[in-house]
Amino acid sequence: MTATILDGRAMSADLRAELRTDVACYVQECGQAPCLVIVRVEGDVASGVYSKAILRIANEIGVQARLELLPVQTSPDELRSTLIRLNNDNAVQGIIVQMPLPAHLPQEIVTETIAAEKDIDGISVQSAGRLFLGLPGLLPSTVAAVMEILERSKTPLEGKHVVVLGRSNVVGKPLALLLLQKHATVTICHSRTVDLLSVTRQADILIAAVGRPKMVTAEMVRPGATVIDVGINALPEGGIVGDVDYASVSEVAGALTPTPGGVGPLTNVLLLKQCVQTAWHQLHPTRRRRL
Ligand code: NAP
Repeated sequence: MTATILDGRAMSADLRAELRTDVACYVQECGQAPCLVIVRVEGDVASGVYSKAILRIANEIGVQARLELLPVQTSPDELRSTLIRLNNDNAVQGIIVQMPLPAHLPQEIVTETIAAEKDIDGISVQSAGRLFLGLPGLLPSTVAAVMEILERSKTPLEGKHVVVLGRSNVVGKPLALLLLQKHATVTICHSRTVDLLSVTRQADILIAAVGRPKMVTAEMVRPGATVIDVGINALPEGGIVGDVDYASVSEVAGALTPTPGGVGPLTNVLLLKQCVQTAWHQLHPTRRRRL
């Protein structure tokens, strides 16, 4: 194996330690910890697991967090009024709504209602607009996790060719915009891209966010490239694999995130980091934004 492993678990542990210190400073100044509310509409089993993971990390770093569990028959108006109540609650600094919502609740209720300054998973229309305009704001946590890995591994971006596989609103598109802001040359690929291999082989940095197990093979990677695997694919026999064929790609890449143990362990921690950052911002709106 030649690739340097970009260890998301180690980075996550470092970041959690930093956040514990930051939260302690916040408590000293403000008298109480930042508060995060997870809104979950019953129905999706996996989102219950994610909620527990977020509550556990919040507890570890000292952020107050609570779950507002809504029944599966919650109406669009009830969801909207829950968000408006939390938007107006000065004791709440961050809100996350667990996805997916039941089919009768359009995601737009959330993206159009959640207050931008409390939108710690960066899904609101306003957060997306700020990102598009290059203004500081809250990011989708997966995207923030990828940027954290690139920053902590000191991967240069300026002038580099970054190929992003996937154009979803939660990963591919916002990631491409952020990388552009960092002066990378960005190519976005998707399911209709012709001759994908010839594009991916040009990448100095290849980011896979596709949702297809082991789709990125060694022949698609330029020797020495940095490869970030965002994909999380459940195997029928249990366990997960990424979008990258780890065994073959680790022989050609210069650096590579493993799955599990790469982007995943950082995603929820970045959610908490953004909660702490926006809590500081709400405390000192005129200070330069710490985002
Ligand atoms: P998504 O909404 O399903 O988007 C997948 C993207 O991949 C689409 O843009 C699609 O193209 C593209 N695609 C599909 N097949 C392709 C192919 N053969 N060649 C090139 N592009 C192809 O998925 P997502 O929500 O962005 O998530 C992507 C992956 O990241 C999933 O495995 C998901 O589980 C994982 N994920 C991980 C985290 C984390 O914390 N690590 C968080 C969120 C998601 P079209 O647009 O043309 O359909």
